Amino acid sequence: MKFEPADAANDALALVERSEPDLFDVAVEQFTIAADVLGLSDDLRRILSHCQRELTVHFPVEMDDGSVQVFTGYRIQHNSGPGPTKGGIRYHQAVTLAEVKALAMWMTWKCAVVGLPYGGAKGGVQVNPKLLSQTELQNLTRRYTTEIQPFIGPNKDIPAPDVNTNPQIMAWLMDTYSMNIGYSVPGVTTGKPIVLGGSEGRNEATGRGCVFAIESAARVIDLDLARSRTVVQGFGNAGSVAARLIAELGSKVVAVSDSQGGIYNPAGLDLAAVTVHKARTGSVVGFRDADAVSNAELLVLPTDILIPAAMENQITAENAPRIQASLIAEAANGPSTPEADAILYDKGVFVLPDILANAGGVTVSYFEWVQALQAFPWTEHEVNERLRRIMSRSFDAVYGTAQKYDVHMRTAALVRAIDRVAEFTRLRGIYP
Ligand code: GLU
Repeated sequence: MKFEPADAANDALALVERSEPDLFDVAVEQFTIAADVLGLSDDLRRILSHCQRELTVHFPVEMDDGSVQVFTGYRIQHNSGPGPTKGGIRYHQAVTLAEVKALAMWMTWKCAVVGLPYGGAKGGVQVNPKLLSQTELQNLTRRYTTEIQPFIGPNKDIPAPDVNTNPQIMAWLMDTYSMNIGYSVPGVTTGKPIVLGGSEGRNEATGRGCVFAIESAARVIDLDLARSRTVVQGFGNAGSVAARLIAELGSKVVAVSDSQGGIYNPAGLDLAAVTVHKARTGSVVGFRDADAVSNAELLVLPTDILIPAAMENQITAENAPRIQASLIAEAANGPSTPEADAILYDKGVFVLPDILANAGGVTVSYFEWVQALQAFPWTEHEVNERLRRIMSRSFDAVYGTAQKYDVHMRTAALVRAIDRVAEFTRLRGIYP
């Protein structure tokens, strides 16, 4: 059986060769900019700029041909001040410790921006899952889960899908944890299939939350969505849903891409047909009625809205000056560098930062966790309405902070998040 790359807050696949700056340095640089605005004490800076727990595991998996391969995986918990830690697990051949640390720190800020009772965590395994059979993928997942089992749990650290992981993988994770412990624990992970206690609306939550944030931003920058154009980089769980929902609001989606490349039609793409094409061929590339563009070209196409929904480090000092969008909504984690942020801000581009724009995924994960703990499922309507309220309230709060301090939206979101997490540390005190 073929592995279908699916979920992820950000989904999507490797788009470029990743010879880039240490991602944790980028995360700390963003943190420092916001800590300066906030006037954060040196003690709190020292605490919050470290990850609390960093677990590296090397574990064997027997492959279908009888050979044994050893894989490297990580689970990082950045800060457990606000509550149990939370964050996805990604499977990608280029996963590094620095990347997972950065992603864990961003999860702390993301949960704080939308007011969830969690600290941040992230996991990753260095593997290209598209080269594995279903049996190998299941065995890898079960062994990795067992390796990190002492660190996770419904009141401790709750994984979820991320790049190249999906509800089936979360089902195996939940089953493995439950088998090891001796009873079923649906609250150990989120992003599960609905029959196993997954939540209505979780699969679409990242894309939906991103579009709610775009609706709020469009109001403040006076952008008429019904007359706008949108470009989406990455056509996985986050990008494909965001593209569909923004098109439902009347925006013309003119270009989309995946790891193989992009397609562009200035008259607008028929997204239903693109989805069928991708399901049939494995990529959006080769879609009739569109011109081929590279992932790099796609970012600088004429458009009003740009949604990076793939990997990190896509918008840099090199391409930021040529970006034509007036609104960028980061469905991916870490798609822009701090240098690019400064350039975009000077150009007057409104950026909805990742920790706000893609927080819909973890927000509905939180709903799923609450439903699992209470064994009481909600309707899709309840989920989506609560998500809409949280996204809209969080946008307003971050926008207010940006105005107050005269900073861009990323720094404003970080200022709010860091202030909140610092407050937990102040009130709880330093143990012992
Ligand atoms: N992986 C997603 C993210 O980066 C979701 C995390 C979660 O639901 O815990 O936000």
